[in-house]
Amino acid sequence: MSEILSPNEPMPDSKPVRPSGVCRKCGAASLSKRTRLLLCEPCFVRRLALQVPPLIKVAGAVIAILILLSALRLPNAIRAAVHFRAGRDHELRLEYREAKEEYALASAFLPHAIEVRVRLATVAYRLGEFATARQALDSLSGDEMREDVAHDVLMLSTKLKEAADEPAANQDK
Ligand SMILES: [Zn+2]
Repeated sequence: MSEILSPNEPMPDSKPVRPSGVCRKCGAASLSKRTRLLLCEPCFVRRLALQVPPLIKVAGAVIAILILLSALRLPNAIRAAVHFRAGRDHELRLEYREAKEEYALASAFLPHAIEVRVRLATVAYRLGEFATARQALDSLSGDEMREDVAHDVLMLSTKLKEAADEPAANQDK
């Protein structure tokens, strides 16, 4: 097995030509014997320490990718906000079908937004789509939520339970 040599180190059997001159970094008169570079011993050691280990390079690439991904997420958050706002407007005008479409779009862009799913569940309930409402609510379990949102969720799941208990009049047996 041959030793791994850093590119700056001399081959084992070829003695480095004794460099002459002064350190090009600090101007010290005595140069390092371990390198052919015009560096004194302290500057050579510092230079070795500055060489980036491969693992740190990989970590740097990973961090760059993570930053890129979070930058890509931002437009999604903006899109989700636009659809959520549109859904709110529809819901306030009692246009539940349009509201549900907007909330579903918002939820697709931001799947973990609690409020979006609560609104989606609510309008689905108003449309009589209990299975969709229940599905949207079930996906919330264990999530942290604001108190008023939690109140909505509790109300809605109670209503859904009632709807499940009493068979709907227009539902076929
Ligand atoms: Zn030096």
